[in-house]
Amino acid sequence: MLRPYAIRHLRAQFPERLIYNICVDTIGVLALQGDFIEHEASLRRLGVRARQVRKAEELRGLDGLIIPGGESTTFCRLMSDFRLYEPLGAFLRTGVPIWGTCAGMIMLAKQASDLDFPTLGAMDIAVLRNAYGRQVDSFEADIPVKGIGPEPFHAVFIRAPVVDMVGPGVEVLATAWDEKLGAETPVAVRERQYLATSFHPELTQDTRIHAYFLEIVRTEGRSSSPK
Ligand code: GLN
Repeated sequence: MLRPYAIRHLRAQFPERLIYNICVDTIGVLALQGDFIEHEASLRRLGVRARQVRKAEELRGLDGLIIPGGESTTFCRLMSDFRLYEPLGAFLRTGVPIWGTCAGMIMLAKQASDLDFPTLGAMDIAVLRNAYGRQVDSFEADIPVKGIGPEPFHAVFIRAPVVDMVGPGVEVLATAWDEKLGAETPVAVRERQYLATSFHPELTQDTRIHAYFLEIVRTEGRSSSPK
C-alpha cells in the first residue's frame, strides 16, 4: 500500500487517473443488464481497469464492484438464473467495497418495496421502488455531494428509488427534493465500504463520484492491505 505522504506527493505531480491506476487494480462491473458500459467508461477515464462480471469466477481478485442501474426485478431474475446470489453473498462477506447506482442501490438495500426477490441486503437502508411518481419519474438536479468538493453534481434520476429509511451507521452524502413527499430525501449514502446513489453518475462526464468510490476502495478495501 502507498503511504499517505506518497499519495500526496504523487497527486502533486500526476493527474488523478494515474494515482488510481497505481493504487487500485481491477473494479468489476456487474454486467447482467443495465448501463454497465457507461460505468466501465468512467472507470477507464480514471485510469482503472474494469472487468465485466457475469459469472462467479469473474468476481475473483476484484478490488471493488459496481452494480449499475437497470431494472432490479430483471437483475434479480438473471442473478437467480446465472446462480449469482450465493457467490455475490460470499463476495460481500469478504468486505470488498461495492457501489450500487439506482437499481444497484435497490440490490444493496436491506429492504426494497415491491420486489419479489431477495436483495443482497448489504446496507442498512430501506428503499421504495419507483416512488417518485409518474410525472416526475425522471428528472435532473444539481446537488451538493459530501466528499467530492464544493461544485454541485449534475444528478440524473431515472425511475429512481426513494430512500425511505437509513440506519444509524449510514452516512447521508447527498439529498434531493422529493415533490411528492415535500421533503429532502437521501440520494447518496455510504455505510463503511458500501456506497449507493439513486442517481446515475455514469451518465455524465463528471467522474468525481467514481473517484470517491475508488478512494473508498483505496482506503477501506483489500488493496489497502497486502493481497
Ligand atoms: N426503477 C428501476 C428498478 O426498480 C431502477 C431504475 C434505474 O436503475 N434507473 O429497478
